Amino acid sequence: MAKKWVYLFSEGSADMRDLLGGKGAGCAEMTRAGLPVPPGFTITTEACNAYYDSGERFPDGMWEQAMDALKHVEGQTGKKLGDAANPLLVSVRSGAKFSMPGMMDTVLNLGLDPETVAGLAKLTDNPRFAYDAYRRFIQMFGKIVLDIAPELFEDQLEAAKQHSGSKTDADLDSDSLKTLVTTFKGIVKKETGEDFPDEPYKQLEQAIMAVFRSWNNSRAIAYRNNNNIPHSLGTAVNVQTMVFGNMGNDSGTGVAFTRDPSTGEKKLYGEYLLNAQGEDVVAGIRTPHHISEMEREVPRVYQQFAEIAQRLEQHYRDVQDMEFTIERGKLYMLQTRSGKRGADAAVKIAVDMVQEGLIDKQEAVMRVEAAQIDQLLHTRVDPNAKYKVIARGTNAAPGAATGQAVFTAATAEEWGKAGKRVILVRPKTDPEDYQGMIASQAILTSTGGATSHAAVVARGVGKPCVVGAEAIHVDEVAKRFSVDSVVVNEGDMITVNGTTGEVILGEVPMIPPEISSHLGQLLSWADDFRKLGVMANADYPRDSEKARELGAEGIGLCRTEHMFMEVDRLPIVQQMILAKDQDTRQRCLDKLLEFQRQDFIGILRVMHGLPVTIRLIDPPLHEFLPSYEELLVEVTTLRCTNGDPKRLKEREELLDEVAQMREANPMLGLRGCRLAILFPGITEMQVRAIFEAACILQKEGVEVHPEIMIPLVGHVNELRIERDKLEKVAKAVMQEQGVSVDYKFGTMIEIPRACLVANQIAEYAEFFSFGTNDLTQMGFGFSRDDAEGKFLLKYVEDGILPFNPFQTLDRDGVGELMRIAIERAKTTRPDIKLGICGEHGGDPASIELCHELGLTYVSCSPFRVPVARLAAAQAALTKGEKDR
Ligand code: PEP
Ligand code: MG
Repeated sequence: MAKKWVYLFSEGSADMRDLLGGKGAGCAEMTRAGLPVPPGFTITTEACNAYYDSGERFPDGMWEQAMDALKHVEGQTGKKLGDAANPLLVSVRSGAKFSMPGMMDTVLNLGLDPETVAGLAKLTDNPRFAYDAYRRFIQMFGKIVLDIAPELFEDQLEAAKQHSGSKTDADLDSDSLKTLVTTFKGIVKKETGEDFPDEPYKQLEQAIMAVFRSWNNSRAIAYRNNNNIPHSLGTAVNVQTMVFGNMGNDSGTGVAFTRDPSTGEKKLYGEYLLNAQGEDVVAGIRTPHHISEMEREVPRVYQQFAEIAQRLEQHYRDVQDMEFTIERGKLYMLQTRSGKRGADAAVKIAVDMVQEGLIDKQEAVMRVEAAQIDQLLHTRVDPNAKYKVIARGTNAAPGAATGQAVFTAATAEEWGKAGKRVILVRPKTDPEDYQGMIASQAILTSTGGATSHAAVVARGVGKPCVVGAEAIHVDEVAKRFSVDSVVVNEGDMITVNGTTGEVILGEVPMIPPEISSHLGQLLSWADDFRKLGVMANADYPRDSEKARELGAEGIGLCRTEHMFMEVDRLPIVQQMILAKDQDTRQRCLDKLLEFQRQDFIGILRVMHGLPVTIRLIDPPLHEFLPSYEELLVEVTTLRCTNGDPKRLKEREELLDEVAQMREANPMLGLRGCRLAILFPGITEMQVRAIFEAACILQKEGVEVHPEIMIPLVGHVNELRIERDKLEKVAKAVMQEQGVSVDYKFGTMIEIPRACLVANQIAEYAEFFSFGTNDLTQMGFGFSRDDAEGKFLLKYVEDGILPFNPFQTLDRDGVGELMRIAIERAKTTRPDIKLGICGEHGGDPASIELCHELGLTYVSCSPFRVPVARLAAAQAALTKGEKDR
């Protein structure tokens, strides 16, 4: 039997998303549940892939199956495609497994030709409506299927309005629309060399192909890359009976969520327009009305809609995003799908649904994307700040941001890439603007509502967004916008507050985010499920405080050299490095000891009761000296200009010192434990400072657990020598102070060789912390400082690497080195404590790998601690599910 490529809505179900796409599966499920869905059928995602596999041809049997399904739909509706007396019109819509809002194409009103349009005019007794549908169809088909520049049609539409003195499209009468149809057909002929296809079956065939092709348009590809959606999924095509929301004031169309997708509040949220088609709402051309007004305008339909919405949410046990149309007082459901929501809403909805008994805690923890809660910790406008609000719009995506106003997506992208903070200001956004939107700090539009393209995309990517700020007049050509007498030009600073909907002139004081009670609840459930500990990378008491507040269970990495960089210490560090004799060097070290002791007292006090892993100095010493190149320029200039001889001599000497210390490959040079072995005074001073601090605090009754971490060990002897030497210092201090401190000695594992000899190294280390920044650098042989700028991003763009390995752990290579290290270390020390402190410690996918490898903890920057807590729980729950 031939493969089944086509499913009637009545043959599908919600669990067939892979095959039918989200939209197809949603329509099928609603049809089965007896909801009013316009009849239709779905051509599968497999058919799309087969279409590509066979060189852009329909697979065998697909078209015949589509024709059978069409006959069925004709039977259900009593209408026929191409029948002048009672024409069936259909929409042809894309619909992939994962929603890709606005990224792919749709054709509406298909089936119109010179005869059916006349039939439709007669049947509806509304020629204006029929010819409006026809001109929209030619316009859409021309753009999507025939690839004709949309402006060619839009310009003519504008001209027709001017000619007839119409203000909006809706004011054009049927004669003007008839003329427009002829004009549009002329455009098609001119641009393609062929007549517009009047044969409805031909139209259908071409439209299906165009939707298949839209899977691979550039914005769809970019969207999938940005959202990690595999390119191999393909899109389904839904062919569905058209219903019309533009048949008068008893008709309309809308989009609504069962809960507010921005705040999570449990109430219907969305917009509708009477006497309009779906595209009018989504495209933001007319500003729609809030759904609550529908209760007043069309109360009976509203009641029915509210009941269906409630039923759908209970059925799917999740927020639904629904599209509906009212045709002459009759409600039709066109789509339901899980509603995309902002991070705030995701957390509140998950927690509320547990409290409502709709889902359990595990499900709540799994429902919120770990990376998404990063946004929750978003910056807000300081409530005490005074500022000038120049306009207000709909608060479409939370958070606030300041940046330079730009008026095209291309500029946003260009300036964004150059490191500028920009805010994209547009009348409305289109799918073409996507790349510019993600390069911006925030998005502002003067039209459109909370379900417009700008709003949906901004929420998805976590950018603050204000839409429908109607008071602003955007002049795209002059690159400026104005509100009353205020004019904002390209490059001027503005602030957009997506939480309140305010548009503000200039910069505004912001405050860092805090954890809401809902997030606190969700994270505490996550803590119950996770096996991994979560620690923070923090170098200062204030960072440690933040880390603790966000739930860190200790410090996993304190990079001590950062303390050397502070202005009051750097001159002493430089003096120490350049010292000609031991006495001078020791005097400097003694001064530094004072500083470091205070630093450690600060951190250990904040982290009382919790482990604090202190990594001894790592970078090469010349990093603390002025740059060789700058010195060379200065010396040369002084020489050429006969400058101050004293200064010249001093700079020449310094240049000489720096030149001696220069290395061709500093990352592979005299750093980490190698430096400590050659200049023992520095790490001895550091360990003395740590233990003096610990003893002082312990005497005060503060519980301390310092863990000394030795970096860049590649050979066991390096660690053995260092540990022996430093533990002697530790013991001496404890003896002097008469205090015994609970401490550990361990090492970073960040050199591939160390992984292979981990069994030897584990003899001298009570803990390992994987330094995956260096391990990735040395595992791949990619310079950390150069690769990203030079070739790595291209590698990712071209698919040579699936992702940036400095962001997400490379499971097969670096992950394998870790696995070997763990396995071998445990043969020597079965209870060894294992952590990770590279940047990967805050990345959800890497955290999943860390869980699988059986690490004790992950350590990441303080603001990523909540993300890591949630990701660690999700890793444990996913693994539990897999093992079951
Ligand atoms: C690492 O290499 O992963 C690490 C944490 O150390 P640093 O980034 O300081 O080299
Ligand atoms: Mg390192």
